[in-house]
Amino acid sequence: MSALTTDEQRAIDAARGFAATHVRPNVQAWEHGHGDSRSVLPEAARAGMLGLEVPVEHGGQGLSFGCKWRVAEILAAADFGVAMSVINTHNVANHLARKAAPEVVRQYLPALLSGRRTGCTALTEPGAGSDFSAIATQARKVGDAWLIDGQKAWIVNATHADVMVVYAQTEPGAGARGIAAFVVDGTRDGFVRDPRSDSGAARAADAGGFQLRAYRAQAHELLHAPGQAFKAALTSINGARIYVAAMCCGMVAECLRVAREYGATRHTFGKSLHEHQGWRWSLADAAIDLEAARLLLDAAAARIDSGSDAQTAAAQAKVFATRMAGRHIAALLHAMGAQGLREHHPFLRHLAAAQVATLVDGSTEMLLERIAKDLRKL
Ligand SMILES: Cc1cc2nc3c(=O)[nH]c(=O)nc-3n(C[C@H](O)[C@H](O)[C@H](O)COP(=O)(O)OP(=O)(O)OC[C@H]3O[C@@H](n4cnc5c(N)ncnc54)[C@H](O)[C@@H]3O)c2cc1C
Repeated sequence: MSALTTDEQRAIDAARGFAATHVRPNVQAWEHGHGDSRSVLPEAARAGMLGLEVPVEHGGQGLSFGCKWRVAEILAAADFGVAMSVINTHNVANHLARKAAPEVVRQYLPALLSGRRTGCTALTEPGAGSDFSAIATQARKVGDAWLIDGQKAWIVNATHADVMVVYAQTEPGAGARGIAAFVVDGTRDGFVRDPRSDSGAARAADAGGFQLRAYRAQAHELLHAPGQAFKAALTSINGARIYVAAMCCGMVAECLRVAREYGATRHTFGKSLHEHQGWRWSLADAAIDLEAARLLLDAAAARIDSGSDAQTAAAQAKVFATRMAGRHIAALLHAMGAQGLREHHPFLRHLAAAQVATLVDGSTEMLLERIAKDLRKL
């Protein structure tokens, strides 16, 4: 595993503290619709989670991607939805700090870094998911400004976020070539939020949708020009695939921890569960694949930190880790007997989240296509 600096180790300890104090005690209440996971985002900000990779000159910590994926792993062990929520607001802050016009940075960055405002990145629409180039949200140039119309769905944080990075088509029929990205302010006219969350799976991710109806974006709110946005999205998505893989590792590690502890206290046929070979092998299998997934994602993350091409490595890490999570969380749930179904345990919540992980930031099939494309080149 790649080495961490003292500051990075401190950030990781802060993530552990945040998860233990603000996430684990609340997660069951959120699952039942009591309280609001969004309320812990200011705490995430105080723990430095919203500025991890944001450059120091912009008020962030300027830490490496290797630190970010470890934070993602720790947060997801407590709850995948919270991990996605925190990381997605962080990503918008980092994206704006690096790419937005100075007036956009001044207007939104301090609020995002403090958790007063939350962010999301919106590619997906009701009619276009895997096929990103088919998005129908349209942006028309009117003088210096842009008028945007369309609908987004399945967007992390969309039930509360009000600083959005929105991808839209500027030239119908042009596909990837015509796609641009805009900073959209959810408090302005023309923004209409869908009232309900899209799903109870990974509830704290607060996935939802919104419509833009003749929403007016100013010229300086164009984040990526037509022809550049598609490429920019595909580049940044490699990092997302790696931290989703890390989140899967976090969830499996947590289920393994709970099953190990339970196996020492539960007795059948006069022995602890650990003393039954058939039982303990399911834990050993999970431990092997968890280690393999971590090695794959560490190698992929090292490519991001060194600026090398991470496309294939990220795809491999995500496919392996998401499959590993689906298989082993189900097996570890089984190893708990009926006890695994109790709500205070993470198994059912993490199992649903592992399914979400197979879709977000590139579904398994899209990633297999990516890997297969490289194999054809050889
Ligand atoms: C909880 C949650 C949070 C999300 N957050 C965000 C977010 O923050 N921002 C955002 O933009 N999106 C987000 N998404 C959307 C996610 O990126 C999409 O779900 C994903 O891209 C797949 O799109 P789809 O669901 O429309 O499935 P489709 O594209 O309709 O595909 C349906 C199925 O067919 C498969 N398939 C499609 N095409 C092919 C093919 N050519 N060959 C083989 N199989 C194929 C897919 O893999 C999938 O299994 C989120 C989704 C979820 C569930």
